[in-house]
Amino acid sequence: MKIKQYQMTALQSDFQLVDNVIDSVNENECIVKVAGCGVCHTDISFWHDGVRTKKEMPLTLGHEISGTVVQGPTHLLGKNVIIPAVLPCGECELCKKGRGNICQNQLMPGNDFHGGFASHILVPHKYLCIVPDSVLNKYSLQQLSVIADAISTPYQVIQKSELESGDLAIVIGVGGVGVNKRC
Ligand SMILES: [Zn+2]
Ligand SMILES: [Zn+2]
Repeated sequence: MKIKQYQMTALQSDFQLVDNVIDSVNENECIVKVAGCGVCHTDISFWHDGVRTKKEMPLTLGHEISGTVVQGPTHLLGKNVIIPAVLPCGECELCKKGRGNICQNQLMPGNDFHGGFASHILVPHKYLCIVPDSVLNKYSLQQLSVIADAISTPYQVIQKSELESGDLAIVIGVGGVGVNKRC
């Protein structure tokens, strides 16, 4: 499949729009047509501050991705999905204990492999989150992309903290994560 990607080719330089080809999809992968991709501060750190990416440049950044599955297993074809910002392996001890967020084999789009600033992305399909149509009545698929990181990160912290409605909480740092604390 022919796709387009905005690739980071050098630090602090304009992304390059390139034509690329996804020539094979294995049984663990699918192709998602990107609807939206949020810009995370981590992207800025990679691009501006020189934080090293796992995959060498040229690299397509972007790990807050929503879109539609256009190639892959039948049960996912045509589904609208959010791609989690971190994809755990699902096999290791940490994953089996439900701690996939610190899995040592985890993969991150736009860091370990080409990410979402693109027309399409090739991604492992195991942990894709299917977006119910009822949610799409309220929000566009494009808008929902930031759930992948900017909303799931504070959400997880709030869950763990056992904060309840009416409790007083002080949020230090109102960046992309802090402003989404009201979830
Ligand atoms: Zn992020
Ligand atoms: Zn794991």
